[in-house]
Amino acid sequence: MNLGRFDLTGKVAIVTGCSTGLGQGMSVGLAEAGASVAGVDYVDGADETAQMIRGLGGRFLYIKANLMTIEPIEDIMEKTIGEFGKLDILVNNAGIIRREDAISFTEKDWDDVMNINVKTVFFFAQAAARQFLKQGGGGKIINIASMLSFQGGIRVPSYTASKSGVMGITRLMANEWARHGICVNAIAPGYMATNNTAAIRADDNRNEAILGRIPANRWGLPEDLAGPVVFLASPASDYVNGYTLAVDGGWLAR
Ligand code: NAD
Repeated sequence: MNLGRFDLTGKVAIVTGCSTGLGQGMSVGLAEAGASVAGVDYVDGADETAQMIRGLGGRFLYIKANLMTIEPIEDIMEKTIGEFGKLDILVNNAGIIRREDAISFTEKDWDDVMNINVKTVFFFAQAAARQFLKQGGGGKIINIASMLSFQGGIRVPSYTASKSGVMGITRLMANEWARHGICVNAIAPGYMATNNTAAIRADDNRNEAILGRIPANRWGLPEDLAGPVVFLASPASDYVNGYTLAVDGGWLAR
């Protein structure tokens, strides 16, 4: 097969939550495949990610924004188009988790997680799709789901609701936009070693229980998402619509 189908040279991607963890791994993966990356985060600078991408000879624009509300989306789109002239790929990665027993879970922990993990994801995808329609020629939207799009989890009610929602709206948007050449898919990472899971990795019992259930016998790493995100961002996946791809070392196969 022609491996050029995976090439992202000349493509422009927005990646949210780019400063660390999975967002950093995917930003670097997209840049390695040739894409220019507009990285969004709410920290002061995504210096490490910028350095990694520029070290590859890639183009990186950092846009500081807090995605707890949908208010910054328009400005992020404008800055990206201003710098790179267009948009081809959106990776909706920024997300948070709050852990507490369901019996005592607060409204704030519900609303905060739902706002960034699913509301912002939808309205960012809507903004990207409007831009793709304006440009013509389609585009790629990749949402970051979770094992808890498929399973119930424990002590993470709003996270489970949000990630189950991400899988649902990924299908909905794919259904509406596939005819325009806009592919909407999701990646469901398994248990990955990032800040997001630092607390459970630090708990010896949880760590052992989780590792013992992963057929690959290791936590996933940010670079494990590079191949899957490049595939879903590239012409190689043009007939893949509305699917949530687990990248989980076999977790869901158990
Ligand atoms: P992380 O906490 O290491 O990184 C999250 C990134 O999002 C950070 O760069 C952070 O600064 C940014 N972010 C957080 N709140 C923000 C806000 N309000 N505005 C803008 N940016 C914000 O987490 P991660 O593990 O890399 O998670 C990335 C995504 O993958 C999340 O959606 C998460 O739910 C999902 N996920 C992670 C795992 C895992 O095991 N780590 C598993 C499944 C899904």
